[in-house]
Amino acid sequence: MQKILNYINGALVEPASKQYIDNVDPSTGKVYSLCPDSDAQDIEAAYKAAEAAFEGWSNTPAEKRSKVMLRIAELLEKNLDKFAEAETIDQGKPLWLSQNGEIPRAISNIHFFATAIEHYASEAHPMGEHAINYTTRTPIGVVGCISPWNLPLYLFTWKIAPAIASGNCVVAKPSEVTPMTAYLLSEICIEAGLPKGVLNIVHGLGPKVGSAMTVHPGIKAISFTGGTRTGAEIARVAAPMFKKLSLELGGKNPNMIFADCDFDKMLTETVRSSFLNQGEICLCGSRIFVERPIYEKFKKAFVEKVKAELVVGDPLDPKTKTGAIVSQMHFDKVLSYIELAKQEGGTILCGGKSIQPTGRCATGWFIEPTVIEGLAYDCRTNQEEIFGPVVTITPFDTEEEVLMMANSTEYGLASVLWTENLTRAHRLAGKIKAGIVWINCWLLRDLRTPFGGVKSSGVGREGGWEALRFFTEAKNVCIKIS
Ligand code: NDP
Repeated sequence: MQKILNYINGALVEPASKQYIDNVDPSTGKVYSLCPDSDAQDIEAAYKAAEAAFEGWSNTPAEKRSKVMLRIAELLEKNLDKFAEAETIDQGKPLWLSQNGEIPRAISNIHFFATAIEHYASEAHPMGEHAINYTTRTPIGVVGCISPWNLPLYLFTWKIAPAIASGNCVVAKPSEVTPMTAYLLSEICIEAGLPKGVLNIVHGLGPKVGSAMTVHPGIKAISFTGGTRTGAEIARVAAPMFKKLSLELGGKNPNMIFADCDFDKMLTETVRSSFLNQGEICLCGSRIFVERPIYEKFKKAFVEKVKAELVVGDPLDPKTKTGAIVSQMHFDKVLSYIELAKQEGGTILCGGKSIQPTGRCATGWFIEPTVIEGLAYDCRTNQEEIFGPVVTITPFDTEEEVLMMANSTEYGLASVLWTENLTRAHRLAGKIKAGIVWINCWLLRDLRTPFGGVKSSGVGREGGWEALRFFTEAKNVCIKIS
């Protein structure tokens, strides 16, 4: 059976404990590889390698750092099909999505920050004849990156690319649930000639490996994407140590549909924003609010389209639109929320249960795309993050009402608005409590824009200059000139 290895000091190595965790293919429920069960000893080794590499890497001209990163992006592109298949087997998402979404985006992340760093500049603030200030932005040192299982390589590269582009050395932990593509990336980093110690990837369990990173006094910043509860635990430990923190956490995003929207466009996008990647995207619009005059029309058309188009099955089959749920634990969690919705008085309009495909995937974890109506906006189903193929639909009568319901959760990551009324679109965009507002679209991403949430959806922003600022320390130098 294939053994995944840690990537420390430029080499692929076993965990200190020599222990491994089963890595399961969610489409079959069967163990197909082994993931290192690393611990604080491996984090220490990774930290030492990163610390030793820092002086050399931080003093390497941006152009040279950029070149080696571009080589990594090139090699990833050359191996796109291999990575796409590995991601699908590890995570359960359909192969076409890995080929056209996940892996191309990972390549773009590396390319984007490799080129951005060549244009990154700091500011000067002249004070007339008296003085001049200039600001330097230097890398922090050794930084930690922790990423989740839903978009494994996509979110992993979204963190490590700005960190190393700006001259830091990294200790990174992918989710133990989906470690494979980060492992394959470490092979590519070696081939591309990334100097040893610049990036160290330590695989293993969050409470062991992630927490060893969080408590490590030498790791000066943590960029984390994952659940709100884990984010709070990281903040509790890291804040008194005055570490820089970027926390991208959970969401329960509203999708607000007004009667004056372009119905057909909205319908197609709403199917996507509800169920792409089995609904396992922090940006999915899981609470759909529909203006009453088109509520019945929407309900009928939406349910028909979901039933007709979202074929559930083998993620490797090109016909599949909805793949496997990432793990048994998550599968059980999503099903328990469907049960809760029923107890809370919800009516299941479609889906509502697990399904067992025939053949290769007969023992995998699959759930039908599920649409529920008839729930109060403030019930648990509508307030807690489910993070699966489950959405609720709710009618509304006024802008004030939908805004109140949209803003009623503890989360504030993304939101979607469908209206052809420009004035209303801008008015509501200003009032929605979320870090991201999509108007008449969803998941349209420009990597230069700030990305992140408010309230329990996190602290800080990723993307563009925001990420490069996070991974650098500003120092102001003031010189009196008269
Ligand atoms: P978790 O919070 O469970 O895990 C995220 C990462 O943190 C994993 O690598 C995990 O390791 C690790 N971890 C777990 N416990 C600790 C700890 N005590 N200290 C340090 N690290 C730890 O999230 P999931 O992997 O379940 O991902 C789903 C969540 O991620 C959802 O809530 C989703 O909304 C959120 N998310 C947010 C995004 C955003 O941009 N805001 C984007 C994508 C997802 P292990 O896997 O071993 O437990």
